[in-house]
Amino acid sequence: MNSNGNSNHVKVLVLGAGPAGLSAALYAARAELAPVVLTGTQLGGQAALTFTIENYPGFPEGVGGAQLGELFQKQAEHFGAKVEYDTASEVDLSQRPFRVKTDSGEYTADSIIISTGADPNKLKVPGEEKLTGRGVSYCATCDGWFFKDKKVVIVGGGDSALEEGLFITRYASSVTIIHRREEFRAGPLLQKRVSEHPKVNVIWNTVVAEVLGQEKVEAVRLKNVKTNEETIFETDGVFIFIGHTPNTQMFKGQLEMDSLGYLRVNDKMETSVEGVYAGGEAADSHFRQVVTSAGMGAAAAIQATHFLEAKSG
Ligand code: NAP
Repeated sequence: MNSNGNSNHVKVLVLGAGPAGLSAALYAARAELAPVVLTGTQLGGQAALTFTIENYPGFPEGVGGAQLGELFQKQAEHFGAKVEYDTASEVDLSQRPFRVKTDSGEYTADSIIISTGADPNKLKVPGEEKLTGRGVSYCATCDGWFFKDKKVVIVGGGDSALEEGLFITRYASSVTIIHRREEFRAGPLLQKRVSEHPKVNVIWNTVVAEVLGQEKVEAVRLKNVKTNEETIFETDGVFIFIGHTPNTQMFKGQLEMDSLGYLRVNDKMETSVEGVYAGGEAADSHFRQVVTSAGMGAAAAIQATHFLEAKSG
């Protein structure tokens, strides 16, 4: 039963409304399958939290992440996809139609496309949890504004850390990137921008061992991993960008996944259960781009369409 008290049967149920889910919905809608998309808690996915996306084709000047998400949604809805602001909480893939419980009801579906994305990893150090929202953040676009003329540290050495660090220079008086090695994982263009930016400094071979502060972040305890030397570094904010964990816990024991929880799919986006497809970061630990996620979502929907056509004879 859904929030209106009705039982809902759909041909295609899409879980997640990031680039993969909304692209899947667009393709399924154009195949006249009337897909329903359950947005989960983050409409637009992680991409919607990105200030500017400069590498999605078709936007030579870049496009806002939230704006791109809205365009994806509008296009899918234009062809008949229904976007529901609801979150799947339990799935049963052992029976057909598949059953999906949500926060406000229940769906049955002939096919499912999983595009539940991934969440940012935590450092798991003392003080981090207590001070989350009080200076500890995982999203520069969301929280950067609060650090106007303040000092912040960024943890991580990948594309996200450098890109978000550069974004925060709009507000912060100084940005210090703390990286556990002496070489960034991020691409060369971002590395060049970071090395040339007057507000950005880098501390190499160092980890954050503790976030310090009573009501809000006041400092971090740093540990040099080569010398074991510890120092206290004063800061107003700690932005953490150390990778992601896929949102696939709900499928444990029902779908094959790798040791990190990424869903295993073949080149047709088929999971280990016939009729269930996956795309985007829930199934991709490698590329994790808006364009690759969108492509995976489209491929999943094309395959779901073939599956449903064959099923209906
Ligand atoms: P990532 O590439 O996995 O980088 C994570 C970074 O965090 C690494 O530098 C890693 O250090 C560090 N790290 C991991 N665990 C840590 C810990 N416990 N303590 C301290 N440091 C830790 O993740 P990402 O930057 O989020 O990027 C994910 C994917 O999205 C990548 O494929 C990336 O290319 C892509 N992406 C692309 C763009 C873009 O094209 N503009 C923007 C954002 C993300 P080590 O280097 O030592 O492992």
